[in-house]
Amino acid sequence: MTAPIDLVLPRLEKVRRRQPGQWSAKCPAHGDRTASLSVREAPNGSVLMNCFAGCCIEEITAALDLQLADLFPPRERSGREPQRIAKVLTAGQALEILDFEILFAATASANMARGMTLTEADHQRLITCAGRIGAIAREVKS
Ligand SMILES: [Zn+2]
Repeated sequence: MTAPIDLVLPRLEKVRRRQPGQWSAKCPAHGDRTASLSVREAPNGSVLMNCFAGCCIEEITAALDLQLADLFPPRERSGREPQRIAKVLTAGQALEILDFEILFAATASANMARGMTLTEADHQRLITCAGRIGAIAREVKS
């Protein structure tokens, strides 16, 4: 299977590696003259992207002809992984995942508020998202 980062990087222009697991590139979602897009590979293999000009992740993935679900390792779309994932995480990694899961949920809800329909893959990913947040919460409590 192709890792999410290997789907994303070949689609971007002006990619420059900043440090291990971190790149800058031209944002595909606006007329970017510099490299406004920051790309990071999270410890779990998910890809996090942030455009300093303010493009949302949905616009960036659409411009790359990808879905949000493509930014996550395929293995973890099943929704059955969370119990195991949480046990091997450091607190920092758990927070990083929470941060990303919440961003995903917020993006999905913003899209729905604008009348967009979630794809089946995004819907499944949202269920996984809830499962992972729940798993991390249980882990922290135990
Ligand atoms: Zn942008």
